[in-house]
Amino acid sequence: MHEPDEGLFMTNAQNRFNTLQTFDLGNGSKGAFYSLPHLEKDGTGPVSKLPVSIRLVIESVLRNCDGKRVSEQNVRALANWKPNAARTEEIPFVVARIVLQDFTGVPLLVDLAAMRSAVARLGKNPKMIEPLVPVDLVVDHSVQVDFFGTGDAMQRNLDLEFRRNRERYQFLKWGMQAFDTFKVIPPGIGIVHQVNLEYLAKGVLSSPSILNSQPANIYYPDTLVGTDSHTTMINGLGIVGWGVGGIEAEAGMLGQPVYFLTPDVVGVYLSGSLREGVTATDLALTITQMLRKAKVVGKFVEFYGPGAAALPVVDRATIANMAPEYGATMGFFPIDAECVNYLRATGRSEELCRLYQNYYRAQGLFGIPNKGEIQYSVELELDLASVVPSVAGPKRPQDRIELPNLKREFVSVFSKPIAENGFGKPFEELAKAFYISGTDRMRPGGGSQEPVSKQGSETRNTNPLTELEMVNNRPTPDPVIAYAPETPEGVIRHGSVLIAAITSCTNTSNPSVMLAAGLLAKKAVERGLQVNPMVKASLAPGSRVVSDYLNKTGLQPYLDQLGFNLVGYGCTTCIGNSGPLPAPIDEAVTRYDLVAASVLSGNRNFEARVHQSIKANFLMSPPLVVAFALAGRVDVDLTREPIGKGKDGKDVFLKDIWPTLQEVRDLLQSALRPEVFRQLYRDFAAQNPKWNEIPATTGNAYEWDPNSTYIQEPPFFTNFGPQPGTIKEISSARALGIFGDSVTTDHISPAGSIKKNSPAGKYLLDHGVAFEDFNSYGSRRGNDRVMTRGTFANVRIKNLMVPGTEGGVTKFQPTGEVMSIYDASLKYSEHNIPLIVLAGQEYGTGSSRDWAAKGTALLGVKCVVAQSFERIHRSNLVGMGVLPLQFKEGTTAQTLQLDGTELYDVLGLGPGLKPQQDLTLRITRVNGRVENVPVTCRIDTPIEIDYYQHGGILSYVLRQLVGAQGSSAARC
Ligand code: SF4
Repeated sequence: MHEPDEGLFMTNAQNRFNTLQTFDLGNGSKGAFYSLPHLEKDGTGPVSKLPVSIRLVIESVLRNCDGKRVSEQNVRALANWKPNAARTEEIPFVVARIVLQDFTGVPLLVDLAAMRSAVARLGKNPKMIEPLVPVDLVVDHSVQVDFFGTGDAMQRNLDLEFRRNRERYQFLKWGMQAFDTFKVIPPGIGIVHQVNLEYLAKGVLSSPSILNSQPANIYYPDTLVGTDSHTTMINGLGIVGWGVGGIEAEAGMLGQPVYFLTPDVVGVYLSGSLREGVTATDLALTITQMLRKAKVVGKFVEFYGPGAAALPVVDRATIANMAPEYGATMGFFPIDAECVNYLRATGRSEELCRLYQNYYRAQGLFGIPNKGEIQYSVELELDLASVVPSVAGPKRPQDRIELPNLKREFVSVFSKPIAENGFGKPFEELAKAFYISGTDRMRPGGGSQEPVSKQGSETRNTNPLTELEMVNNRPTPDPVIAYAPETPEGVIRHGSVLIAAITSCTNTSNPSVMLAAGLLAKKAVERGLQVNPMVKASLAPGSRVVSDYLNKTGLQPYLDQLGFNLVGYGCTTCIGNSGPLPAPIDEAVTRYDLVAASVLSGNRNFEARVHQSIKANFLMSPPLVVAFALAGRVDVDLTREPIGKGKDGKDVFLKDIWPTLQEVRDLLQSALRPEVFRQLYRDFAAQNPKWNEIPATTGNAYEWDPNSTYIQEPPFFTNFGPQPGTIKEISSARALGIFGDSVTTDHISPAGSIKKNSPAGKYLLDHGVAFEDFNSYGSRRGNDRVMTRGTFANVRIKNLMVPGTEGGVTKFQPTGEVMSIYDASLKYSEHNIPLIVLAGQEYGTGSSRDWAAKGTALLGVKCVVAQSFERIHRSNLVGMGVLPLQFKEGTTAQTLQLDGTELYDVLGLGPGLKPQQDLTLRITRVNGRVENVPVTCRIDTPIEIDYYQHGGILSYVLRQLVGAQGSSAARC
């Protein structure tokens, strides 16, 4: 084990800027800390007037100021943050810990293992690669909804998960023994952000130090980055943290600060309180829409005012969770007494609660600010009383629809052109309906929920249920509001709800909406309502605490009766692990190209994310998920039309079964019990025999198995040398793809199922993997061979070079031959031809998926030119040595009339490259015409220039370590 690093685990506390002070720990003794009020007293800057989120970052910069990674100038600059200054300074942010989920965590561990192998090849000690901050990985992304609607669904899904992922889990167990600060929370415990909120987060951390020649602890705020976009959920507890790519997280683990441009901070003043019938989810969707419009991308958002102060932490967390959907780096709520209440209610010790309160009081950071106390870059306001019941969809989380308008909106979007985010179907089609016989056997316990594989749309069950018959083709219904088709059992049509999932940490961490779902289910059952058997319902909470309170309150049996049986404790439908639909239903959807719907309490609904066969996906609160499952369709106005018929034959309306705020509050008392949290969050291994059964390999360097189809040594450090190359111009590149707006990381690197006839599918078949064992792309991220083949392989991605097609195809130039993107990249690589990708607005929006950048790099793409980039994906591209360039305002691939037949050069690239410098994209057309197009280099910071020059952040860090082995500077 190497020496601890000064600045991370300090040995001698330095009295920087005269700020080293003590505070009362609440147990009769004193603790040391770097005092922000004293930084102001020292005359460094008007710290007490700054946004709370900025002050928390200043604390990190101050504490870690060592003149190497962090300079005094960094402290001064941030202490003098101005609401509206030009943003050119980068902040070196050293975080206190790191959280991972398994989809991103396994490849990250693969990279660490690959670094150890590279170090060993250089004849050095592999142990020099070691995380320097605590790392917690929660295995939550691998469980799929294969079994549902039965009492044993959860156990059977868990069994299947272990069967499918055994190799990955074995690898994780190797990681646990190989690295000292790497911990794993095994499958079946919960979802990373909910586990973080309920258990991992401590609020205040400490490190041992020496003060006045005596051992002492230095206390500091809990801060983190996570390899998952929704890491921001922890902002609801006053903790600074956000999602980064795995690549940045690796650098953070190895002692590099996370660098980001000094942000604007948008203050959102909340007043009033939510009205009866309105949920925290409605509020989160409203804020998402409002902040998307306000263009908060790359900014901190800080909520304040009496409305914020009155919200419980769980509501704040739901809002903070969706920061990636509104585009902000964080959706931050300052620290106050509610945070202490939450820590206490979730079983954190009294000692910690006192320490937490005293620390933030000593820092002048306790209490939610009010109007006028802080100057923000932009000030927005929301009266919580103005929020109404809402859903969002059918394709984007920011497209909020007020509940009464959903029917009208669905009908309108049905025939809107695809280019306008519609489905482009003829309006008359809406009236068509198809009958599927035998749907009674799809009821929970009826048998057809038996999975034959997790490859949804390609599954063909042997159950001969497929009798499709068009039963209705009425004349065009008009006006819209008069269009109210019945959806009897066995009838499937556009707008039919086929998946209803209570899923996602966004909402399952919030007992008020979970209890509301249970109460609604109870009232529905009591009225005799049933869920149409064609709806695949599921309940997948983010912690076992939810089951505890749903059982204690007696609500789970009602959810069970409606098919919302527990299917697992993990991400499930939220990440697209919704499992297969019953084969006849999937076949009907595919054969008749139905715009079927899912309803889910998740935070994302991009195309093909929830399920490949389901086009319309609506986000909503858990009680509304149950309500729409009961209604069986989304083209319904639940505020005016009945939800179904009761056992007395009378219409039942949503208002008849909607729980009151008081009913929810009455049950909340039983929801949060500290002793339950303490009991459920301890000794995970003992509570998980399947995990214990998995054998772990040992040793500091991993022994790669060339036959593994899950874990392979990636080629990032092949031919690794001690010196980086030089930055050079890109010449005679070919376009691999030309894409439109809002290409997501899921389009670039899908997480879901692998098609049999895709390059990745063929690779797996060639390596002896049966189709039913393909598992998902997300679970194969430890194998670069699968992932490179899967890059741009999303079935919905549209490459404009091959108009009218969907999926990962391109035209190989100059022959014009149409082939898979992977095959084309191989052919280009044989001829040493560099590649370029062109795209529209918001390129790389969506999850912080480092494979979207890694796969791009491994395909041979040297440069991506887009109208705009999503923050994390842009930095991941640089982190993998891919150059992001941005078109100037008004220029697009379309205005330039690019079709992929051109040759491209990037001019102006050289050793003197500066952040955000103007460069030239030279386009040579087939007819020989040459055009020089000015573009902005989106390498944004000086350190990114270094990363780019080194061919990526991993090589940069490895060279730092190898170059300085044995000295303490190695870890600076
Ligand atoms: S439940 Fe959804 S939002 Fe939460 S960690 Fe899983 S995939 Fe991310």
